Amino acid sequence: MGSVNFDTSVRYLNGVGEKRAETLANMGIYTIRDLLYHFPRAYQHRGNVRFVAEAEDGETASLIMTVASQPHTAMLKGRMTMTKFSAFDGTGKCNITFFNQNYVSKIFTVGATFRFYGKIQRKGKAVSMTSPAFEPYTEGIALPEFFPVYPLSGNLTQNYMGKIISSALTMLNEAQIEDILPEKLVKENRLPSLGWALNTIHNPMSYELMEKARKRFVWEELYVFALAISLSKKKAKEGNAPVFAKSDMDRFYSVFPFSPTNAQRRVIGEIEADMTDERALGMSRLVCGDVGSGKTMCAAAAMYMAVSNGYQAALMAPTEILATQHYNDLGVIFAKLDIRCELLCGSTPAAKKRIIKKGLLDGSIDCVIGTHALLTDDVEFGNAALIVTDEQHRFGVMQRSALGDKTKGGHILVMSATPIPRTLALIMYGDLSLSYIDEMPPGRKKVSTFLVDESYRARMNGFIEKQAGEGRQVYIVCPAIEGEDEGLVGFDYHPGDSRPKLKNATEYADTLQKLLPNLRVALMHGKMKASEKDKVMSSFASGEIDVLVSTTVIEVGVNVPNATLMIVENAERFGLSQLHQLRGRVGRGQHKSWCILVSDSKGTEALSRLEAMTETNDGLEIAKKDLAIRGPGDFLPDKSGNTRQHGGVAFKAVSLCDNTADLEAAFGYAGEVLSLDPKLDNPENQAVAKYVEEYFGSIRSSVN
Ligand code: ADP
Ligand code: MG
Repeated sequence: MGSVNFDTSVRYLNGVGEKRAETLANMGIYTIRDLLYHFPRAYQHRGNVRFVAEAEDGETASLIMTVASQPHTAMLKGRMTMTKFSAFDGTGKCNITFFNQNYVSKIFTVGATFRFYGKIQRKGKAVSMTSPAFEPYTEGIALPEFFPVYPLSGNLTQNYMGKIISSALTMLNEAQIEDILPEKLVKENRLPSLGWALNTIHNPMSYELMEKARKRFVWEELYVFALAISLSKKKAKEGNAPVFAKSDMDRFYSVFPFSPTNAQRRVIGEIEADMTDERALGMSRLVCGDVGSGKTMCAAAAMYMAVSNGYQAALMAPTEILATQHYNDLGVIFAKLDIRCELLCGSTPAAKKRIIKKGLLDGSIDCVIGTHALLTDDVEFGNAALIVTDEQHRFGVMQRSALGDKTKGGHILVMSATPIPRTLALIMYGDLSLSYIDEMPPGRKKVSTFLVDESYRARMNGFIEKQAGEGRQVYIVCPAIEGEDEGLVGFDYHPGDSRPKLKNATEYADTLQKLLPNLRVALMHGKMKASEKDKVMSSFASGEIDVLVSTTVIEVGVNVPNATLMIVENAERFGLSQLHQLRGRVGRGQHKSWCILVSDSKGTEALSRLEAMTETNDGLEIAKKDLAIRGPGDFLPDKSGNTRQHGGVAFKAVSLCDNTADLEAAFGYAGEVLSLDPKLDNPENQAVAKYVEEYFGSIRSSVN
């Protein structure tokens, strides 16, 4: 058997031919390292063993049973076959069915014992399982508790991924793999070896060992992240933005239907001071303001100043929905100011794109609003001098710098609804000045927030009906899209947790529609195409939908003033800052608004976090609590697929529970290394330099 190292192509593995290699490449997997760093997205908790007698309908668990009857295969319609047999443990009997897997009749001989894992069905006393996973079981020999579940693509299967990863692990020549972490970091944090950690994260014998392995990868990510940020900050400092003359702000304010709040005036003043200062290197400013505090006006002011000075400006939003909304709102304002503004998103028709790109290059378009589509290489500006990014925490930091490159060092304005506490902001955006919009526009009403459990379901549905009956609209947010993740255990699992079941948006919408047939219920989730999501969102905005059941895709920025009720299911699964964002979707019009957090969690920590939501509407207060409880996870790009869709850097191993201290320490280690080797040229830093570069590179490739 040959040996492989990190740089070996996956083609070298048995079972990886041209076709499969292509599918793997679609997931960014080219080398053995890519493959081994393709971590499970969750684990099946096969160690969750139940007795037949106690197994509940619908629960996903293991049953250890002995085969009781010879498997019998029957032909069904078409070419389908069905193989059935029964098995038992000390407490009862279970019928097991497989479809189109005749070979299993050879495996399941009467008297042999297996651990069966899957969804359990129960009708009265009759218990059954369909196509369970299984492993031979011998009394006294431990089977792994956790089974990896990998992110997949194309026609790849879990089995296949498991197999090629195992073979890569056995063939890996540990002497040759490059550890990117400085020895000091490994020692001081008592991290396991890379080889051990790789083996363990893919095949953990226990949750504790998996955690230990994961900790190492968390550090790798933090360390590479810290190096990349530190290097990009240096790069950013090289820019030179044009100095603007003062603009006619009275004219600007006069086109709005309202007057600015004092806070908006102040922040716009700070923006103006940055961009008109001859001695400064240009503006690099982060504007933090709670949801609804009116950040858009500040962005518009900055763009107006750039255009009045004869330059172009760009506004980048993390989703098409949000970009479109900005375009609709600001388009009206800009038209009154004779500013020509266009919208450029991934879904913009090619012909239209071409025209916009031409206009941006020849300077006939003043402003462009868009998504990360703005970052593609063929978008070029004639003379852009300002880049605004909205809802910054949704973007990778590197994307910001990629957009900055397009202005050749222009002014940068970043807007965030997550009130990033100052210390954390300094670490992550050390080069940015901070403005806080600490005042809400007048007339904003507090959103009354309640925490309820399952026993309120009927009353809550009644309330939905009542709101819709009065012509109002309702958001319902669920943590999952479909039922597929039932019974899986993620990185944020705690042993001994008995967690409430996850509500999934698809089933929820179905059930609710049946229950309330007179209401128009719609579904929206992250797996839908951007154009489909936009369609649903705009029908909701125009009042054609009463109840929108969705995943957190609606989290950011969308403005539907007629929506007055926000219901969050499995609220225990969300961070406080995220809940605050979600709650910010309602209370935007003149009607009284409510937020109902539904949780059946018994965990006291979870409940006290949720209680905090019912006590305050103040975003900064909530952010501080969140940071204290969970660490800076919400401020970092997260590990879920979501961030990657937005083109951010997805952390694979960093969980939301990691604390600020580790992040700070990572910056410390990075600083030490960079002080000796500022450009990562030294031989001992070659391995990490490659990944830092990839970090920049992966942003370029993931945004196209
Ligand atoms: P966010 O800070 O969440 O981006 P927006 O800029 O979207 O907030 O503003 C939220 C809502 O408040 C919008 O409907 C906007 O028109 C309105 N708004 C903004 N500034 C003011 C103001 N000074 N007075 C009244 N309404 C305002
Ligand atoms: Mg906004």
